[in-house]
Amino acid sequence: MTETHQPSHDRVGGGYATSTATPGADYVPEKVRLLVWRRSRGKCAKCGGREGLDFDFIRPMQRGGTAAPEDVQLLCGDCLRQKSGVV
Ligand SMILES: [Zn+2]
Repeated sequence: MTETHQPSHDRVGGGYATSTATPGADYVPEKVRLLVWRRSRGKCAKCGGREGLDFDFIRPMQRGGTAAPEDVQLLCGDCLRQKSGVV
């Protein structure tokens, strides 16, 4: 029983309860969402647009990013698509 609470591994289908708060997954806590939303005033962090806004991890979890406010930004649908390389 050495494995206690490790949020670093993304395991799929290991009997994990994925529905609620799952640290380590693509999950932004409510208070962080609020903070980021207020910081960017409900607008895209890049272009200031308001269409299809979503939360985006500035640093991927795999590279040490966290769901902290400074690691999360608000991006519109266009900027999200640009970032992920889908045009
Ligand atoms: Zn944008």
